[in-house]
Amino acid sequence: MNYYFYAYFRNPKVTLHVGSCRFCNNGKGMQSKKLGYLTGRWRGGYPNFELALEAAQGVSQGLGVEPAYCQRCIPGQKELN
Ligand SMILES: [Zn+2]
Repeated sequence: MNYYFYAYFRNPKVTLHVGSCRFCNNGKGMQSKKLGYLTGRWRGGYPNFELALEAAQGVSQGLGVEPAYCQRCIPGQKELN
């Protein structure tokens, strides 16, 4: 499983996703939202959640925010079944 995060720059926010999340789409995002490329950027994929979180925290600090978790895929929860 791969992990990604999306960093918004205009309205600073960092959101962590699992690669299989439909909002993430393995770092491609939702294809209908081409404007997303102008407002932020996907980073990933990271082979485990710890690496993704570490990178997300680094970017978040630069933006002055705390990393958030996608409420659809919730990447921090490894045992969702
Ligand atoms: Zn997600």
